[in-house]
Amino acid sequence: MNITSMTCRERVLAALRRDPVDRTPCSNPTSIATVELMDLVGANFPEANQNPELMARLAATGHTEIGFDSVMPVFTIIQESSALGCKMQWEQKDNWPTVRMREPIWTDPDDIKIPEDFLTHRDTKCVIDAIKILRKELGDDVAIIGKTMGPWSLGYHCFGVEPFLLLSYDDPGKTMLALDRMKEATIQFGVAQIEAGADALTLPDHATGDLVSAEYYKRFLLEMHTEFVEQIPAPIILHICGRTVDRMGYIGETGMAAFHYDSKNEPEESMEAVNGTISLVGNINNPETLYAKGPEDVRAEVYRNLDAGVQLIAPECAIPLQTTIENLKAIPNAVRDWHREHGDK
Ligand SMILES: [Zn+2]
Repeated sequence: MNITSMTCRERVLAALRRDPVDRTPCSNPTSIATVELMDLVGANFPEANQNPELMARLAATGHTEIGFDSVMPVFTIIQESSALGCKMQWEQKDNWPTVRMREPIWTDPDDIKIPEDFLTHRDTKCVIDAIKILRKELGDDVAIIGKTMGPWSLGYHCFGVEPFLLLSYDDPGKTMLALDRMKEATIQFGVAQIEAGADALTLPDHATGDLVSAEYYKRFLLEMHTEFVEQIPAPIILHICGRTVDRMGYIGETGMAAFHYDSKNEPEESMEAVNGTISLVGNINNPETLYAKGPEDVRAEVYRNLDAGVQLIAPECAIPLQTTIENLKAIPNAVRDWHREHGDK
């Protein structure tokens, strides 16, 4: 492949393999939807999470308006939980939909059942159909990243956060059984998105630094995450929020393509921790930098990631809905400038 003239899609896929690229891709594994972008194209929450045309239209702005190398239509973390039967709070345009975790649907692993209509439910089908629309409209030039939630996150949604964490302390055997049953939902939804045309998948599994220890990660999730690599035929980007440098070594052992990492970890120490086993993406701070500061501050964080050798540039997590387009555009602009300054182009 000629690395002087890559398409956006080739660039993202090469970076996920840690192959040479013509420039570092900007590729968001989680949502960059904002109220400003919704207004621009007339595709608002909550409908843009339920209607595939609106979902595709809003997702496309990540490439057409912001200039990222990929698009990511799965803005929420609740599409599959809704299809599993969780009680939903859909909210309005300026707020994220949530699962009502105080009204959990399961209390025991024996309650777990993947419904017959899991992939034809409005909220999972919306994602699958939006990916088909994006593939048709964007052709092969832009990478499409789908998303399927991992079993630990589904456990929070379906059992409630506290009950699920308590179960993991009290009964590791039952917890493993629950994870094992819920992982079927992760695989089914992921594979359906690949078949619809997604190039890669984000897999958020919120074994978050402040709730779950590195030992917990190894004990409950390492093997299961390795299994996802075998069962889902596309590059997987694992997403875990918070301070995770203590488990990045384990994460690198999964065989996943990339780890989407939080600004609570420094780029240099993170690159050292994964030691070339997995690509890194993320780290641009959301609540302080993208939301509350200006383009110059965004630029400084992009430069720091590029200086450290981070393979793909992106916000650390789903960005606040009130983030400005100006700050988002600062990300690809900074990447281009950094490469120019380094004599790449
Ligand atoms: Zn996150």
